Amino acid sequence: MAFGSGSLMWFRKGLRIHDNPALEYATKGSAVLYPVFVIDPHYMKPDPSAFSPGSSRSGLNRIRFLLESLVDLDSNLKKLGSRLLILKGEPGEVLVRCFKQWDVKKLCFEYDTEPYYQALDVRVKEYASASGIEVFSPASNTLFNPGDIIHKNGGKPPLTYQSFLKLAGQPSWASSPLTITLSLLPPVGDFGNCEIFEVPTLKELGYEDPGQEDLTPFRGGESEALKRLRDSLSDRDWVANFEKPKGDPSAFVKPATTVLSPYLKFGCLSSRYFYQCLQDVYKKVKKHTSPPVSLVGQLLWRDFFYTVAYGTPNFDQMKNNRICKQIPWNDNDELLAAWREARTGYPWIDAIMVQLHKWGWMHHLARHCVACFLTRGDLFVHWEKGRDVFERLLIDSDWAINNGNWQWLSCSSFFYQYNRIYSPISFGKKYDPNGNYIRHFLPILEDMPKEYIYEPWTAPLSIQTKAKCIIGKDYPRPVVFHDSASKECKRRMGEAYALNKNLNGLVSEEELNSLR
Ligand code: FAD
Repeated sequence: MAFGSGSLMWFRKGLRIHDNPALEYATKGSAVLYPVFVIDPHYMKPDPSAFSPGSSRSGLNRIRFLLESLVDLDSNLKKLGSRLLILKGEPGEVLVRCFKQWDVKKLCFEYDTEPYYQALDVRVKEYASASGIEVFSPASNTLFNPGDIIHKNGGKPPLTYQSFLKLAGQPSWASSPLTITLSLLPPVGDFGNCEIFEVPTLKELGYEDPGQEDLTPFRGGESEALKRLRDSLSDRDWVANFEKPKGDPSAFVKPATTVLSPYLKFGCLSSRYFYQCLQDVYKKVKKHTSPPVSLVGQLLWRDFFYTVAYGTPNFDQMKNNRICKQIPWNDNDELLAAWREARTGYPWIDAIMVQLHKWGWMHHLARHCVACFLTRGDLFVHWEKGRDVFERLLIDSDWAINNGNWQWLSCSSFFYQYNRIYSPISFGKKYDPNGNYIRHFLPILEDMPKEYIYEPWTAPLSIQTKAKCIIGKDYPRPVVFHDSASKECKRRMGEAYALNKNLNGLVSEEELNSLR
């Protein structure tokens, strides 16, 4: 490439300066740099018909988190003598327009395994190559390149965590320092007739801003991510002793895990940098936990799901997904709506769903409970329906991880012990006997005595009256009875598993219907 020509750095996720090989490469030998983010209507267009504020694909919390991340990125670029150029429209078309108007010889962006970006990137790459533009698209969102792991495994993704670990080994970059800061960036090039915007506000995108109080307490951006990482890792004993299944899912004043997932989702935090920082802590302590339960183990779970998702056609659906059991889920919109809108009558389940709506984040075991309840535990509703709700409302919503975990929790793939069901009553009680978590997220139950807070329908009317919460009026009765519903779910799972076994995973629509 001739010295002095321009580079376009296309930010999508990977919204950071640190450990950003695409950005680093874009600056090399470039006279000018165009750091671009495209506001994509696919994700951002308001949808008034959606069940809660936001676009059809994303709730307001995640949109705001993204906008905050962009403001922070812009500010960090400005410190390096550059700025973020915001453009609007279908990203493929927008980029082609830029290529036509700007002197771009290099296009750099982080590789993305999500199907939406895979399809988009093919188009953009084709156009760039045909126009003589060099494309650099490194896999820097994960610890390992999912394609390399699949290649090592003979073209198929490993389907267990242990086999993934064996194939993965140590990351090749782990022993050399990652680039954390960059020196001054090349100046921004002339942008001709292209309309460039500042990072928009929610209002400018057409949303009503509900104000800070009603949105998630977690703020977007690389600066916040690095601060949160530093805070989490400052307690070495906590890091060294971290064991995932042992955390308290009801802890909300100080969550039991790092809450770094939304920052990893948008790439405000590099998972590789997170990994290296953890290794630094491990070197300074006498002993520490190991995968799968350690914090490094959590990052490896992330990579595991990325690899399986990338190597499995139709990973986000039951049909034509070769690793997914075919199960005759019920089509019950009423039960789905009760679950989605926190009206199941089970306070533990409803409080978790309120946390999802309000914060866009819940502890991993809390996600287990509501996912199990919706699918194979109680309501027997299709995991894809629950996945859609999570996909829209989580601030850490991640295509590979979300689909993988929904298949796991519904015993459709990875985990098959369908007789092990989370009780919507006793599970939460074990951690939080007083029901503080429920009282916080479901204030209607604030004055319910602790004896009844997990099963308020069993409280005598006098107690309900005193607690100012009449069951069936102020708070719903249970939509199903757990004991009988869970028994029925197990029976149906048993039948479905038998069918899947006999037919070696090839179950027809008629056969599934015969179990409905
Ligand atoms: P920590 O325990 O601090 O872990 C650090 C990081 O490791 C996380 O930020 C995350 O990137 C990764 N990680 C942790 N647990 C898992 C896991 N089980 N699988 C893959 N990666 C993991 N996580 C998402 O990031 N996006 C999703 O859309 C998502 N959907 C889920 C849906 C269901 C039904 C379930 C049961 C889990 C889902 N998870 C998802 C996984 C997990 O619950 C979250 O990653 C975790 O709770 C995030 O909190 P944390 O950052 O404090 O995690």
